[in-house]
Amino acid sequence: MPGGLSRLPVVVMHLQGVVLDALLPPRCASCGAAGARWCAACQAAAPRLHPPLCPRCGNPMRIRTGECNACRAHPPAFEQAAAWGAYGGTLQTAIQHYKFRRDFGLAEVFAARMAEAVQARGWQVDAAVPVPLGSERLKARGYNQAALLARPLAAALDCRYDGRSLARPRETRPQVGLSIAERRSNVAGVFAVRQPMPAGQRLLLVDDVMTTGATLDAAAQALRAAGAGAVYAIALARAV
Ligand SMILES: [Zn+2]
Ligand SMILES: [Zn+2]
Repeated sequence: MPGGLSRLPVVVMHLQGVVLDALLPPRCASCGAAGARWCAACQAAAPRLHPPLCPRCGNPMRIRTGECNACRAHPPAFEQAAAWGAYGGTLQTAIQHYKFRRDFGLAEVFAARMAEAVQARGWQVDAAVPVPLGSERLKARGYNQAALLARPLAAALDCRYDGRSLARPRETRPQVGLSIAERRSNVAGVFAVRQPMPAGQRLLLVDDVMTTGATLDAAAQALRAAGAGAVYAIALARAV
């Protein structure tokens, strides 16, 4: 059963977590309280994105006017993009703990929240695809934080995990500090699909933090060009 096999690493990761938690009880990534990787109080206190949001890219808007100006000027290749929370407060401290302290057990906790956000929107997807890193950055960092989220997210959504099809053959400079237009040109054409994909798939792009959605748009363009029927995009947090 291919579905069961593809879920094996998630099961192994989960069991590793269970064993480690028994030996060394986890502490909350945000407040340090013993008992959970990210405690219920800190999850409840995480800043969320408040409507009105652009129905296409999920960006907060001042007034509800349909799609935002950026989406109207440059319609993204994804159907919809969304983030579970806003990058700040307890969500920011938890993400920093995840990335810099390499507390990868948090991925399962984050993925559960992202799964709720996907299900709340009624997106039906066949596979979860992490936004890839360039090979140099992957080598320097040693892991892809989006892939670590996408695996348990695929398990929670009962869809396939596809961490192989989408690649990033070209390195780009970081998007931090760039305007929307600069972000768009910085990531234009950097993604490539490296193996034939079944036509018409509904794919879920997965990233940890999104800002304008330019990276997700570029990745979605590559997937659509390779035959994807629809691309949705979910991030744990949105920098606003
Ligand atoms: Zn806490
Ligand atoms: Zn928009």
